[in-house]
Amino acid sequence: MDKDIPAGLTLTAEESLWFSRASSEKRLRHPYKITPHYASLLTDEADDPLRRQVIPTIKELEALDSETLDPLFEKQYEAAPRLIHRYRDRALLLVTDRCALYCRHCFRRYFTQDRGADLGREELQRVVEYIREHGEIHEILLSGGDPLTLPDERLLEIIRALRSERQDLVIRLCTRIPVVLPDRITTALARGLGEKRPLFIITQFNHPRELTPASGRAIEGLQKEGLVILNQTVLLKGINDSIEVLGSLFQRLLESGIKPYYLFQGDLAPGTGHFRVSLDRGRALVKGLRRQISGLAMPVYAVDLPGGGGKVPLTENYETGTDDDWHYFKGQDGLEYRYPKEHRLDR
Ligand SMILES: *Cc1c(COP(=O)(O)O)cnc(C)c1O
Ligand code: SF4
Repeated sequence: MDKDIPAGLTLTAEESLWFSRASSEKRLRHPYKITPHYASLLTDEADDPLRRQVIPTIKELEALDSETLDPLFEKQYEAAPRLIHRYRDRALLLVTDRCALYCRHCFRRYFTQDRGADLGREELQRVVEYIREHGEIHEILLSGGDPLTLPDERLLEIIRALRSERQDLVIRLCTRIPVVLPDRITTALARGLGEKRPLFIITQFNHPRELTPASGRAIEGLQKEGLVILNQTVLLKGINDSIEVLGSLFQRLLESGIKPYYLFQGDLAPGTGHFRVSLDRGRALVKGLRRQISGLAMPVYAVDLPGGGGKVPLTENYETGTDDDWHYFKGQDGLEYRYPKEHRLDR
């Protein structure tokens, strides 16, 4: 595996230990893979925020009791092969177990380590049948793995099949490709996806240094085809857990026409404890950010509840109390304000 280490990086003791033990330790098996583009962005600093997202360390061995391979109980909600139907109106389809680069903080480890590659034809047929029978589903999220590791034609074919009897189906494509392998976004791919609107692209930029000129070109190529791009950031200790880094990331995303959508609290996947911050710290960061950046640049801070409870927003609460007639709030200026409970005209 050592031959894939980017030139110019000297492995630290913690990193070397992962590589020397990876072949024998099954629980270490979240694969190691990097792209030349992402490799070119790394520095030789041990705590480089991009390096920490991609070069494994022995800390991944430290699984906590609270961590499990499937922290969101996705397998329990698998309604058809690879289709996770947890919320009434939308479902998640895991189209491949491959990624261009494996993020060390990835929570879907059960999927990227023990499945057989891509969604098969029979599996797709069963998914299409399920969607046909479940008219309450209005939106399909394509994820994995990374859907853009599939050949263009196969990806577009999957979308066509999903829409075959449900032309109204909204597609949401979740991908890290614009961040880690931007040249994959060719003019032809962008055009093909643009023709499949309503289709929303959800990227995962976690640090402002990931917004490179190459990524910018990939994003622009998609936007030129009329595609709306949103971003989900994972809150990662030592990588982006400061007001300065998050503020700059969200502001720059907005300047690229990308709407910051979610900021995710880390999920309880094994060996990712060293990346997680406490909810209290996350909340404090979000509160500080709110004062600095526009509402448009502000994502929703949310946690996907361990055990399958779904995503819940960790919203700030400005309400200080109520009485029979009023809600009381602390305003942005720290002063107290009130809003009436009822709006009866006959009083
Ligand atoms: C995150 C997620 C969704 C989408 O949730 P939104 O709040 O609409 O972004 C849908 N299905 C599953 C299983 C998910 O994990
Ligand atoms: S791209 Fe997504 S699925 Fe793939 S390793 Fe990263 S977080 Fe996990």
